[in-house]
Formats: sequence, C-alpha cells, structure tokens
Amino acid sequence: PRESRVGGIDKARRVLKRVYGYDSFRSGQEDVISSILGRHDTVAIMPTGAGKSLCYQIPALMLAGVMGGPGIGMSIVISPLKSLMRDQVSALQAVGVSASYLNSSLAPEDEARVMADIAHHRVTLLYCAPERLVRRDFRELIAATPVALVAVDEAHCVSQWGHDFRPEYRQIRDFLETCTPRAVVAAFTATATEHVREDIVSALGLRDPAQFKTSFDRPNLWFGTKKLPRRAKDDWIVSFARDHADQSGIVYCASRRETEELADALAQAGINAAAYHAGLPDERRSAVQDAFIDDDIRVIVATNAFGMGIDKPDVRYVLHHNMPSSIEEYYQEAGRAGRDGDPGRCMLLWNDGDVSFRTRQIDNTDREGDMPDADRQMLRTSRHDLLNAMIGYCGTTGCLRASLLGYFGETAPRECGNCSNCDGEFESVDVTREAVQVMRCVQDLGQRVGKGTVASVLHGAQSEAVAKRGYDRAPSYGALRSSSLPFVKDVIAQMVADGYLAVHMSNGAYPVLVFGPRADDAARGDFHYEIKREAAHTGSGGSGRGSGSGW
Ligand code: ADP
Ligand code: ZN
Repeated sequence: PRESRVGGIDKARRVLKRVYGYDSFRSGQEDVISSILGRHDTVAIMPTGAGKSLCYQIPALMLAGVMGGPGIGMSIVISPLKSLMRDQVSALQAVGVSASYLNSSLAPEDEARVMADIAHHRVTLLYCAPERLVRRDFRELIAATPVALVAVDEAHCVSQWGHDFRPEYRQIRDFLETCTPRAVVAAFTATATEHVREDIVSALGLRDPAQFKTSFDRPNLWFGTKKLPRRAKDDWIVSFARDHADQSGIVYCASRRETEELADALAQAGINAAAYHAGLPDERRSAVQDAFIDDDIRVIVATNAFGMGIDKPDVRYVLHHNMPSSIEEYYQEAGRAGRDGDPGRCMLLWNDGDVSFRTRQIDNTDREGDMPDADRQMLRTSRHDLLNAMIGYCGTTGCLRASLLGYFGETAPRECGNCSNCDGEFESVDVTREAVQVMRCVQDLGQRVGKGTVASVLHGAQSEAVAKRGYDRAPSYGALRSSSLPFVKDVIAQMVADGYLAVHMSNGAYPVLVFGPRADDAARGDFHYEIKREAAHTGSGGSGRGSGSGW
C-alpha cells in the first residue's frame, strides 16, 4: 500500500517528538493522521483546542518527504483566517519547516517569491486563503505542482447551515480538480451537527471519506450562565477581572462599540485590558494580540474577530458579555480557555436584549447576498434553530455540560459537578401547569399562530384581534389569567428552546408556534417542567429593555 512508502503512524509519532517535542498523540489525532497517510479523504470533527493543526501538519511533512523517504508533493491548507496563517507559518518556520502563505495581506514581491518557491518545489506546506483558489495564475502553478494533501480548515464554512458560511469555500471543490493526480482531502471543523457534516462531504466532493469525531468534552472547563441587565453585566465582568487580576482572560462582546466601552471600564478599574475588533488597523490588532500573548495585556475585550488561530494555552477564563448566535460559536470561543489542560472558567452573561439583538440579525438575513427565496427561508429557519438551541442553553436548569455535549451528539453524565447549574447557583420555578396549558393552547389554535398571540390568548386578552378570529372561544382562553404576560412568554420561549415547541415559518413568512420534537413528553402523566427563576419575569424590571424577546 502507498502508506508504507511515506511511513505510518509510528513514523508520525517520531515526527511528533522530533519536530514538536510532544511525547504522545492526543485522543483522535492518531486516527486522523493514519487515515490521511493511508491516502483516504477524511473528515475530522474536533473541538477547539483538540489539536487539529498537527493532524495535517505531520502528514504534510511526511508526504513531502522532508522526514526522509520519498516525497509525494506539497500540502495546501485552506484557511479563512489571515492571522492564523501568519502565526502558524512563523511557528513552522521556527522549527525548520518550509511553510509559506498566500493571502491578500502579502506585498507583491513577497507573493512573487512564494509563487517561485512553489514552482521550484521548495514549499512543504502552503497556507492559502479561499479567494486565492479562483485565481488563474495560482491554478496554473498548482496544475504544474504535485500536491499530496489539501487540508480544509474550518470546513463548516462551506455549509449554509453552519454558523459561518463563506461562499468562497464553494470554490474548493472545483479547485480540487486542478490538482492532478488528485490530492487527498482532509476537512476539519469543530461543528458537529449532522446537516453541516453532510454538507461538507457533498460540497467539497469528498470521496467516500473516513469520518472521525473526538469527544467535545473539556473536563477542565467550568461553564456558567447568568441572566443580568446590561449595566450589571459590565459590573460583573469588571469585578471578576479584578478578582483574577493575575490571569489572562478574553471577554467577548457582540459589537465593536461594546468592546471599547467595556475595555475602558476595565482600564478605569486598573485592569490591563484592550479592545480588539475588525475595525482596528492591522498593526493595532497584531500589537494587541502580541501583548496578550506576552502577558503585557491581561484581558482582551473582543468581537468574534478575535481568537481563531490564537494559540495562547494559559487563557484562564472566557467571559461572554452577550449571547452568541449559536452553540457552535459559543463553544468555539469558550474553548479558548484552558487549552493547557489547567482549569478554565467560561461564563455566559445574557438577557432578553441579546435575544432580540440576535433575532434582528437573523431577520436581516433578508438583505444578505443573492439567493432564491426558498433558500433564504431555509437559511433563516436554520439560524433560528441555532439561536433557539443557544437560548435553551442559557435557560436550562439541567447540567450545562450535559446540555453542550448533548447538542454535539454525545451522551454525558447527568451531572458534571463542574458548572453553575450543578453548583446549584439558581432557583427554579415549577411551571408544569403553565407548560401544559401552553401546549393545549397551541393545539387549540391549530399550530398556526405566533408566540405573542398564544401568550395573549392564554392570558385572556380582550383585544379585537383575538375576538375577531374567535380565539376567545378556545378552551385554553384565559387559562393563565393569573400569570403576567411576560412570564407566560418566558415559559413559551424556554419550551421552544427545550424542544417541546418549535418555531416554523408560515406560508406568509412569519414565525408560528408548532409542536416540537419533545411535544409528546409534555402530554405524559408524569410530565414535570421547571424553568430558572432568573429567566422568569419578576416584574422588577431586572431584564431591562427588550422584554418582548421574540425569537
Ligand atoms: P485546534 O486547532 O484544534 O483548536 P491546535 O491545533 O491549535 O488546536 O492545538 C491546540 C494546542 O494543543 C496547541 O498548543 C498544540 O501545540 C497543542 N497540542 C496539539 N497536539 C498535542 C499533543 N499531541 N501533545 C501536546 N500538545 C499538543
Ligand atoms: Zn454540570
């Protein structure tokens, strides 16, 4: 077999030791590397911090013949992240590997030099931005160069159903035709949902790929969620950073403005903090990043532009000032804590304003790109599903780790003892009766109306809109008259998040409540349902603006 020509896993282990200085592979790495060395197309699903890079770098070194033995060709790594390219390439060069990158940040003369190096077969590993793949000069060069492996990093970017669709990724499939004989293709992602995985296989045109998934559990990370009004979030973060002044941390915010405001607030409290977002000049961004890595800056307050490809192993905490738009995104960002295996804390702060904000973002999908209406509808629905799962995580009363791992398709112990819910840092309210009435009402109204209407019918609203449609004759009309309307809405929102209900787009393209995958459970005699008290409207104005959260 061809494997024996370049060597197998034993040789890979020697490369691991010689080039990187590590003694053993981490779980999952071995399987992926063996598969690539066996020249099989491969899909590897690994959480952030699991060590994806080595999975393609080691085969790349072996396939290029630089570790002794025959060379088959160079390897191309396709990555959307310029900062990752630069950092990985300099790390590789530092250990003597001939690595280069091609992206829009290169000066023309550097670009020409890299192209010449490729032409002379002097490049082992080439990092390359997806936009580059369509360029004719590049394709001509690649057509004349033996390519052994194409590694696609952040492969979920090829899928519309993922959380970070990038149309340029659709060019990869066509680009692969340029490599003759065809290179082995290995796709890497931290997104584990079925839909995305299938899309990766088909959109990249993988050939009968071997698929591997490592556990998403990160036992050294503590997870927490907390619902707080805007101002209280800032105070919480400042006081947390003060209590952990000798540790490095990342705080993620939803907007550039928030990163700057919060970085100022932290600086005023005497904490060495800096903002980081895509609106800052490149030099400023690299300066902040370098200072963070050297511990000259303790806290980075960033938008999601920060972190991909930053390899700082001793980040001790990742705080979220806002709710991300999906669990994938959250887990990827939170996962930047504790890569060294020592304890890390991940706290997600949120409120109804975040839910409204993320919902508005989805509704703005309408302004995104050119696509057929049906696609747009599906894209919106899938983004609502991603967001609902995120909301469910924030509101769940169960173990947070179990909730995360369950989302990634893993079974986990019911209680981890290392999250805010297992620590019992919340009070819950029994809403079994309310939930049963909600289900009845959705049924009464024929699974055809939105959350607001269901809530007001249950609340016994005497509006013309309700009377006109005869909703006031529904058996469940007024069944929750004694609860506040915002409270009923909170119960409904959590039921959607937990899968008792789902939101579908009606033909008229507005969201309606329908039964969810767990609807039958709510009809059982032993049904019992609790939600977090903090998530329930206490009437104190605690959750601030945007209490009519919607989805
Ligand atoms: P990912 O891309 O999956 O988020 P990286 O490839 O950046 O993860 O690896 C995360 C960290 O783990 C890096 O510091 C890397 O050097 C380290 N690492 C990877 N594999 C091993 C290993 N087998 N033994 C020790 N450390 C490893
Ligand atoms: Zn737990």
